[in-house]
Amino acid sequence: MPEPLQATDRTRFHRRANRGTHDRATVDAILDEALICHVGFVADGAPVVIPTAFVRVGDAVYLHGSTANHMLAATIAREVSLAATLIDGLVLARTAFHHSMNYRSVVLFARGRAVEDPEAKAKILAALVDKMAPGRSTACRLPDATELRATLVVELPIVEAGAKIRKGPPLPDEGDDARLPYWAGVIPVSLARGEPIPA
Ligand SMILES: Cc1cc2nc3c(=O)[nH]c(=O)nc-3n(C[C@H](O)[C@H](O)[C@H](O)COP(=O)(O)OP(=O)(O)OC[C@H]3O[C@@H](n4cnc5c(N)ncnc54)[C@H](O)[C@@H]3O)c2cc1C
Repeated sequence: MPEPLQATDRTRFHRRANRGTHDRATVDAILDEALICHVGFVADGAPVVIPTAFVRVGDAVYLHGSTANHMLAATIAREVSLAATLIDGLVLARTAFHHSMNYRSVVLFARGRAVEDPEAKAKILAALVDKMAPGRSTACRLPDATELRATLVVELPIVEAGAKIRKGPPLPDEGDDARLPYWAGVIPVSLARGEPIPA
């Protein structure tokens, strides 16, 4: 059982703190289900957010890409923020004000480190294809030495992170709003794998 993460000034929840948790197993489960994340970093003094694939292996999240990748270069030895989001439902209330979404999300802050060891890199890249389709790393050719050299893998340790979860119906409308003649409830939303299409 992993230890709960320690809240820091950056990961302490203020707004709707009852929806937040630093439980490591919850953080890991969201990171493992989310297929993409958004990486926020500062480039030339301005904030940039880039979507990308990622994988969690043990106590870290890994990003990968070309050695020419601008975003990856900007994460090495620099502070970055990463957000992974799962949407579970659209929450429709009787009032526009109370509309919301059901979600599970993780926000992580970390300093990136380039993974240099070819064996470690190979293991992480195998985990990445296994995340796309379980067992895939045994059903495709894994990167050779040239491909490994051309691939940058960046490690972000899971130390400063937290998860936030909203679930359930809309917040109850009160007074006259509760009697409004509009439908209210949740439209479930999920990301599903379709029927495979052979290439
Ligand atoms: C799919 C989705 C849709 C959302 N839509 C809205 C919206 O339309 N309007 C809105 O106000 N809010 C929305 N939220 C919630 C939003 O992410 C913030 O939690 C909220 O706006 C409070 O922001 P804050 O900066 O005041 O939080 P604070 O409580 O001040 O944030 C403090 C720290 O808590 C952590 N934290 C905050 N939010 C999250 C999170 N979502 N997941 C993990 N850690 C978090 C971070 O470490 C952050 O630095 C949405 C969230 C998701 C996942």
